[in-house]
Amino acid sequence: MKSVTAVINRQALVDNLKLIRSKVPESNLVAVVKANAYGHGLVQVARTLEPYVEAFAVARVPEAMELKLSGIKKKIILLEGFLNAEDIPVISEHGFYTAVHDMEQIKAIEQSHISKPINAWLKIDIGMHRLGAAEDEVAKMKQLLESSDKVAKPIGLISHLSVADTPEKDEYNQQQIEYFNKVAKCFSGDICLANSAGIIACPNARTQWVRPGIIMYGISPFADRTGSDLGLTPVMTLKSSLIAMRKVKKGAMVGYGAAWTAPYDTVIGIVAAGYGDGYPRSMPNGTPVRINGRNVPTAGHVCMDMLFVDLGPESTDKIGDEVILWGDGLPVERIAALANTIPYELVCRIMPRVNIETIN
Ligand SMILES: *Cc1c(COP(=O)(O)O)cnc(C)c1O
Repeated sequence: MKSVTAVINRQALVDNLKLIRSKVPESNLVAVVKANAYGHGLVQVARTLEPYVEAFAVARVPEAMELKLSGIKKKIILLEGFLNAEDIPVISEHGFYTAVHDMEQIKAIEQSHISKPINAWLKIDIGMHRLGAAEDEVAKMKQLLESSDKVAKPIGLISHLSVADTPEKDEYNQQQIEYFNKVAKCFSGDICLANSAGIIACPNARTQWVRPGIIMYGISPFADRTGSDLGLTPVMTLKSSLIAMRKVKKGAMVGYGAAWTAPYDTVIGIVAAGYGDGYPRSMPNGTPVRINGRNVPTAGHVCMDMLFVDLGPESTDKIGDEVILWGDGLPVERIAALANTIPYELVCRIMPRVNIETIN
């Protein structure tokens, strides 16, 4: 019997990449594989995608190192820049590309002892107000980077859209894209703006480089649509097994805190999956899981290693039967909405003890 397994469909990854390529035939693709490739397994995902993309992006230096050490040859971009001055020689030695988002980082580069200039993309703030040069700092930071012999030329430009996934805020979205495109006219290096939502929803954000993340994994960035609605194929199916079953009488109180009371005589199934695997405890009673081709509702609080389902009085299920928590036939977008979160968080939350198994 298998415990929790994230089955990763490599063919789906490749098919999604081809669909993305067809939407932005003029752009270079940066595959965003931070956070263990959104829980899908960093190295396996990167090896599968390497022939189909121009670069990879991660958030942290150790993620970039893991890619490098696994033999990835394509460009590796650090979206968050570097956190410590000690990272600068590592970036230089391995030829990583780094976002540079504030003046302190430029000073640190100037003071570093490196023999190979680093590849820098100036990150500007266009409306998210998270990282990046403010409007009145852009010219100065650009000039400092361009005059530094520790920085390779020409420098690139990168930013991030804050509401590309929110159609009702389109006016703010357009304002950000127009400002970015105006600044981009003064740069001769690499220009990179759109994330998944930008690629799908904003033709004027499809810059020379684009950064698909969630859509590569077959998941929609939009609250009102699933990946399948966008023509994508879900890459991850999270599954486990039914490890026990018991008959309970109407009125039986199930699980910690007796949070679910049987409304009729029924059969309870115990599934080997819990919040210790990344299935949120906040999932409400009644969240669907798939067993033997039908949806059955969860019952009671999710435990660390197990959860309960109401198989119904007529259950013919057997111990060892497969249980799908999300993926095949059960969109993760739907499960995330029930947990009051976004599918990004559910797939990223997969814990290290979950087996990752690749197919196709
Ligand atoms: C995570 C991230 C992305 C990818 O976003 P998706 O919505 O998954 O496409 C792109 N750019 C930056 C800066 C990010 O942090």
